[in-house]
Amino acid sequence: MRAFRSTVFAEMTQLATATGAINLGQGFPDTDGPEEVLETAARAVRDGVNQYPPALGHTVLREAVCAHQEAWYGLRYDPATEVLVTTGATEAVAASLLALCDPGDEVVALDPTYDSYAAAVAMAHAVLRPVTLRAPDFALDVAALRAAVTGRTRVLLVNSPHNPTGRVLTEEELRALAEVAVEHDLWVVCDEVYEHLTFDGRPHLPLAGFPGMRERTVQVSSAGKTFSVTGWKIGWVCAPAPLVRAVNTVKQFTTFSGGAPFQPAVAVGLGLPPARLQAIRDRLQAGRDLLVQGLHAAGLQTLGAEGTYFVNVDIASIGESDGIAFCRSLPERAGVVAVPSQVFHADPDSARTLVRFAFCKRPEVLAEAAERLARL
Ligand code: PMP
Ligand code: GLN
Repeated sequence: MRAFRSTVFAEMTQLATATGAINLGQGFPDTDGPEEVLETAARAVRDGVNQYPPALGHTVLREAVCAHQEAWYGLRYDPATEVLVTTGATEAVAASLLALCDPGDEVVALDPTYDSYAAAVAMAHAVLRPVTLRAPDFALDVAALRAAVTGRTRVLLVNSPHNPTGRVLTEEELRALAEVAVEHDLWVVCDEVYEHLTFDGRPHLPLAGFPGMRERTVQVSSAGKTFSVTGWKIGWVCAPAPLVRAVNTVKQFTTFSGGAPFQPAVAVGLGLPPARLQAIRDRLQAGRDLLVQGLHAAGLQTLGAEGTYFVNVDIASIGESDGIAFCRSLPERAGVVAVPSQVFHADPDSARTLVRFAFCKRPEVLAEAAERLARL
């Protein structure tokens, strides 16, 4: 693991703390989630839900995950055998890759990748084969996808809505991914942690819902983004029983179980009426609009921002040439922290001038950040 040093989130959050700059780097909200969800967790602590939960997770949460899958997507999973609660989506992705890959197997992944993916692939002694979503539109290049698949490919690793680009893959793009997976008989790990955070009327379409996909897909999600509780680290996978057993074989020896009192709280969240989840999304979309306005006023071209917490800018539009240098100087120049997108890319040169800003903050914070950036 020598190649993997401190994560960019740790570095940039430290920079924000040291300089007092507004932290639009690491993606975490500055307000808490729905009251019922918070209250249920507090009550669970007081009511003694404080010991190891069952290895697969509390029944009430596994049932809520299945009810949510059916209500939102028409996908049916058996709560007894086809759901596993994990310590966040991070563990879900890592345990899935460790379970499914032998040393030397290849993992074809949408690039740029969320930062834990490359590390998890390395821990599995597998090989990452990136398929790059290129600026400015970050569209899936189906020819590049087909070219990346070889006889050694074992897993297709997908993330939509996508961090860090903010893309929400279209039905056509998802269909292309599904066709390749079926054609080459691949396992699919699909990270959908931003499933409820899609903007401008875009639907979230789970890859497991496409023909031939349910039986080969490990669908990953988590409570952190949907309910603004990123520190709770309650995630889950939904998959056919043999795949869940395989993932749990790894998971039982990494954490065994965790987050006991948060599990019933997340169950309450998943059962909230759709309008409540839509209100969370609408508030986030308004935050996106506010920040995008400020970025435009600063002369920055914005990209993506169809979903997630993130919008990218191309700093070439203000005559800058390197995102890392720009982000290191931004606290001093503007009192704002952002993240250089190149660190998520297999080939950093392909994204040298892209910078990611998070907009999951209160409107007054975003307005202040926008004002500061406009003075750049
Ligand atoms: N996947 C993606 C795409 C993410 O952006 C994040 C979090 N920021 C995670 C996984 C991690 O989720 P969790 O906090 O539930 O481990
Ligand atoms: N997912 C968050 C982001 O992309 C960060 C999570 C972390 O700090 N590991 O900003």
